[in-house]
Amino acid sequence: MEIREEHTSTDAGADAPAPRRALAMETSEYRPLTPSERDLIVWMLEHGPDGATNFIPQLDDLIARSSCSCGCPSIEFSVPLESPYIPQPLGFRICCSGNSDGYDVGLMLTAGSGVLSQLDVYTFGEIDHPFNLPSLRTLDMAR
Ligand SMILES: [Zn+2]
Repeated sequence: MEIREEHTSTDAGADAPAPRRALAMETSEYRPLTPSERDLIVWMLEHGPDGATNFIPQLDDLIARSSCSCGCPSIEFSVPLESPYIPQPLGFRICCSGNSDGYDVGLMLTAGSGVLSQLDVYTFGEIDHPFNLPSLRTLDMAR
C-alpha cells in the first residue's frame, strides 16, 4: 500500500528530525493501520448495521494515529479527500466489548460525513498503564 504524503507549501527543512520527541508526540503521527487494528475494525463492520461493510474498502486508504495520550489504543482516522463517500445513517456507530489482557474493555467505532472517524477503546475500571486492543476472539457485540 502506498502512503500519500501530505503536501504543504511551507515545509522547507521539514525533513529534519524534531529536536526532541516525547512519547505522546510520537504516538500522534499518522501511520497505516496495524493488522490487528484492521482485523478488529473489519470484525466490527461485519457485525454492524446494514451497509457498514461498505466502509471496509476505505481501510486501505485511511491512516490512523493515537487519539489519546493515556496509553489506551484509541485511534482516529484520516481519509484522503478522493476516497469514496460511504452513505450511512446519521450518528453511525458500532459498539462492542472485548477483553484485553484480562481487562474488560469497550469499543466504539464511529463515522461521519461518509468516512470512518475514530475507534475509541475504553475501560470499565481503572487501568493505570498502557493496554492493548482486545483479541478478536474476545469480541462481543454490545447488548
Ligand atoms: Zn486513552
